[in-house]
Parts: sequence; C-alpha cells; structure tokens
Amino acid sequence: TDIGELLLSRIRDVADYPEPGVMFKDITPLLADPAAFTALTDALAEIAGRTGATKVVGLEARGFILGAPVAVRAGLGFIPVRKAGKLPGATLAQAYDLEYGSAEIEVHAEDLSADDRVLVVDDVLATGGTAEASVQLIRRAGAEVAGLAVLMELGFLGGRARLEPALAGAPLEAL
Ligand code: IMP
Repeated sequence: TDIGELLLSRIRDVADYPEPGVMFKDITPLLADPAAFTALTDALAEIAGRTGATKVVGLEARGFILGAPVAVRAGLGFIPVRKAGKLPGATLAQAYDLEYGSAEIEVHAEDLSADDRVLVVDDVLATGGTAEASVQLIRRAGAEVAGLAVLMELGFLGGRARLEPALAGAPLEAL
C-alpha cells in the first residue's frame, strides 16, 4: 500500500546492532519526518477506532513514542506497560523468556478494568515474546484485548504464529 511504502522508506536498516548478525530496524528517521509520523499516527488511531478500543497500551520504550499520539488522536487514555521496577504504584507483573535469560514487564493495576478493551501498540514485532507477555498482563488485569498494532512485523521470526493463542481471535495489524 502507499502508506506501507512511505513508512518503510523511513525505516533504516542498521547491520550488526545490537549484536553481530542482527539487522536492526531503526525508526528514528520516521519519527523525524512529520508527514510519515502523522500518517503512522492516523493509521494506528484508525485501528483503535475500528477495534472498539477504550484504551491504548504502549510498550516501553518505542511503544510509548507511537502509542501516546495515537491515544490523543483517538480520544482514548494512554497506559504505559513498563519494564519492571519503574512504576510507583501497585502493579501487576508478567515475566517472559528472552533468548538469554528473562525479562519482566509491569502495569499499574488500577489503570485497567473489566470495562476496558485495550489496543496494544509497539514499533516492531520480532519473536512476539514482549507482545505475548503484554497480552497476558492485560487479561490478568481483567481487561479485554481489542488488538495488537505494530508499525512493522519481522515475519521470518514467527511472532504472528506464536501470538495466535494469546490473541484468541483479536486482530494483529502490521502497517
Ligand atoms: P520480541 O519480543 O522479540 O517480539 O521483540 C520486540 C521488542 O523488541 C519490541 O518492543 C521492539 O521495540 C524491540 N525490537 C526487536 N527488534 C527490533 C528492531 O529491529 N528494531 C526496533 N525494535 C526492535
């Protein structure tokens, strides 16, 4: 699509970052281009509207940069899902496995309730581990998952298949 091509043209491939053999997708050129950033925000806000979301969750850290303007544009509240130890209030936590070791994410328990339908926003879907943990966290907080929306999906890593059980029919949209 036209928007897909515009967005792709503003993503920079960085070889061997953060370690040898990895081709990192750097979204900073897109953020620096107001036409592309606006087009991305509008497209994600359209998904929020179409999926009936009542809140936008952004995943630290680039999901904050993308998710916050989407929430404002869609007229919804923004909820940060943070790495462990960063939120001051009572939290729910979800651990997940990394290639080496594990990580933990948290959300303020009072930010989500049974009345909420949540759209999760992040920049890049890779193995799907982060997104899967966030979906589990949202469900444990009592809310429903309206969908997962990302700028870019790295299809060869199989994240979509991994996420299928967790999403339980909620859409995964990659622009
Ligand atoms: P996953 O958990 O393996 O799907 O990794 C996704 C998380 O890592 C997301 O929060 C992304 O921001 C980050 N990530 C993984 N690969 C890239 C990349 O190439 N560019 C930017 N972020 C990435």
